[in-house]
Amino acid sequence: MTDERIGTMDLCRKDGVSFLRFHEWSGLTGFSHAFSTREGGVSEGYFSSMNLSYYLGDREENVDENYRRFCAAAGFRTEKLVSGAQVHETRIREVGLTDCGQGVTDRSVREEADGLCTNVPGVTLVTYHADCVPLYFIDPVRKCIALSHAGWRGTVANIAGITVETLRSRYGSRPEDLIAGIGPCICKDCYEVDETVAEKARLLPIGLSGILFEKGNGKYLFDLARCNRDLMIRAGMDADRITLGGVCTMCRGDLLYSHRGTGGKRGVHGAFLRIDESSPNGNERKEGKTQ
Ligand SMILES: [Zn+2]
Repeated sequence: MTDERIGTMDLCRKDGVSFLRFHEWSGLTGFSHAFSTREGGVSEGYFSSMNLSYYLGDREENVDENYRRFCAAAGFRTEKLVSGAQVHETRIREVGLTDCGQGVTDRSVREEADGLCTNVPGVTLVTYHADCVPLYFIDPVRKCIALSHAGWRGTVANIAGITVETLRSRYGSRPEDLIAGIGPCICKDCYEVDETVAEKARLLPIGLSGILFEKGNGKYLFDLARCNRDLMIRAGMDADRITLGGVCTMCRGDLLYSHRGTGGKRGVHGAFLRIDESSPNGNERKEGKTQ
């Protein structure tokens, strides 16, 4: 199914739908993850074509069809998806079976949360991105997961460290057991920020060399992915267990939506993460035969 490598991620194609997965996690059993691309959906105009948001003005029936196609190809079940309203803050919400569908098939309720966590197999966490960083966390020992959305606000508010702490307090996870993946996001060379952002970044409990680069005239380049990685390490995680996707949403505007690259005229990607239901014999569900 895999036919191309982008950064450190595999670009997988199935039934016209493409999605990215961390190559380093290809041998990982018991958990499934993916990041959608623009390819394989039915949305039109600047939503073209795999927009996964109901809240940006796209036609509802198109988004429904996009979810159907994406889940069939990537091996997820639409009725098991859970998402929240992302508000660039740091709340990590614990979800379970009764929350399934929220924000996707059931849009009557949508709680504010920029991060989701669960220890319930089958429950599929979904966050939305178009430049902002998806942070995937797996604890293979305690069998729990978390998925967070980190734009610059979430990053400088240390949502990465807060997610690690949430897994520790809710499920007893030891930071050194966690593995993490930092998915497609805007790269340092594409992400110029001003003094407001730099000032907040300087308050973080990590060094910023290799993360924040001064350009002059109050402008900086900000490496969101590395910043989140260093915050995970600061929270006790092992550097060797953190994989950087190395895929830029703006450099790859042909394949991915970029907020900055389009002045906001774009759809969104979904980041997906699940503990497989039939684990450790979970390979069946990985191949997308669950519908
Ligand atoms: Zn870039």
